[in-house]
Amino acid sequence: MNRPGSGSDVIKSDEQWRQELSQEEYHVLRQAGTERAYTGEYWDSHQEGVYACRACGAELFTSREKFDSHCGWPSFFAPLAEGRVRYLKDSTLGMERVEVRCAACDSHLGHVFEGEGYDTPTDQRFCINSVSLRLRPAEDQQA
Ligand SMILES: [Zn+2]
Repeated sequence: MNRPGSGSDVIKSDEQWRQELSQEEYHVLRQAGTERAYTGEYWDSHQEGVYACRACGAELFTSREKFDSHCGWPSFFAPLAEGRVRYLKDSTLGMERVEVRCAACDSHLGHVFEGEGYDTPTDQRFCINSVSLRLRPAEDQQA
């Protein structure tokens, strides 16, 4: 998985990831799994804060770009900044989708969809697994 030149800052062996992550986290983050809709911790969260990568801690999304898509997963119309995430073409399951990964550690986050007609500034929906994220609530942001 640690391809040279992939731009990843965080390089760990598969064994290390297995030890550091829970089984479900490992499945989603490192094996591009998907949590079941409406089961994740953040799909319905309106708490203010920054969503960091659960694998490496890189800050990826904020509550300001989160919106209610009613799809059962946390949805954002943009990442915190371009460059925080990377995009890969995903042709699995007979669909052409764009996979979203953490740019720092190359862990799977979810997919991005476009042109669905949501009333957001970008008309994009970053459909991200809760288990790939960890919310840092706004009141803990002093540091
Ligand atoms: Zn990461």
